[in-house]
Amino acid sequence: MENLKQLKEFLSKPKNIVITTHHKPDADALGSSLGLSGYLKKLGHTVKVISPSDYPRFLFWLPDNESVLCFGKHDINEIKKTVENADLICCLDFGCYPRLEQMASIFEQVNKPVLLIDHHINPAIEPTYNYHDVKAAATAQLIYELIVELGDKDKIDTAIGEALYAGILTDTGSFKHPSTTKKVHQIAGELIDIGVNTSKVHNRIYDNNSEERLRFLGYMLSNKLKVLPEYRVAYFTVSAEELKKFNSQTGDTEGVVNYALSIEGMVMSAIMIERNDSVKLSFRSIGDFSVNDFARDYFNGGGHKNAAGGTSAIPLTQTEAKFLELVQKHQHQLLQTKN
Ligand code: 5GP
Ligand code: MN
Repeated sequence: MENLKQLKEFLSKPKNIVITTHHKPDADALGSSLGLSGYLKKLGHTVKVISPSDYPRFLFWLPDNESVLCFGKHDINEIKKTVENADLICCLDFGCYPRLEQMASIFEQVNKPVLLIDHHINPAIEPTYNYHDVKAAATAQLIYELIVELGDKDKIDTAIGEALYAGILTDTGSFKHPSTTKKVHQIAGELIDIGVNTSKVHNRIYDNNSEERLRFLGYMLSNKLKVLPEYRVAYFTVSAEELKKFNSQTGDTEGVVNYALSIEGMVMSAIMIERNDSVKLSFRSIGDFSVNDFARDYFNGGGHKNAAGGTSAIPLTQTEAKFLELVQKHQHQLLQTKN
């Protein structure tokens, strides 16, 4: 970080600090937020994590989870006041304010120093303190590295370590994605050294399904998976009615898109989920086919080269038709991609 010294100086006196992250936070978003929060509290700061929405039950075990303020659940005036009273806003695991959805206006309007810690492509936020690296496997990796750079490695305890490990574990696809460098394994090793129980973290995140979620997954795989070998694309659509039928909870659709990409020969997968007034899309790819570009160019979204998301304001069936047209348009590129 360019102005690390200034940040260190800024943090040398107790401050009111707000940490926020993207809508529907995943383990990296929330683990990074609570990991950083635990560290900053140790330095003597008053810290509040504010989430723009609810999040999956399988993240409730994260340390200090009960202190998180959730937009849509907690008093909006309390959230506004907390933001107004902050000396520093930390934006974690997102690069543009629209990722805060309905909460965006509260943060866009305030004029406070901002610390950005993120690994998404092309962040729009212009922060006071910038800790951005697209090569980082997870924002949690960046939190770990920032704490080390600040000379406070010894302040990373088991609770902070577990929160950061959760982010690294999930964003690397359990150490599977090409972003999983030697450094990532080294950090994981160091977290084990300080007492992080890696299989406990894994079990809490991945072996925490409700029966309904598993049956929903079975339904999606047997009834909703569409495979287009001529384009090397596989995808799912899911309607609001179907989600209701399976009593779908926040987080239940997470990871479904990965199953489509696991079919031999596939280059891109997608899931289109009908929400209240829009369709949420998730994309995954392999190799040089950039779903970041695809999501940005056609679905007002973005993310990483091989994992991205976006939204569509037209109905589900029309969104699917649009997707199919685009797949056709990109057929050449999809077929050229090496795997
Ligand atoms: P997921 O498909 O797991 O929701 O998201 C994959 C990646 O894309 C994550 O890094 C996530 O932050 C990002 N992402 C998901 N939806 C959006 C979106 O609507 N806009 C942008 N800019 N990024 C998104
Ligand atoms: Mn992330």
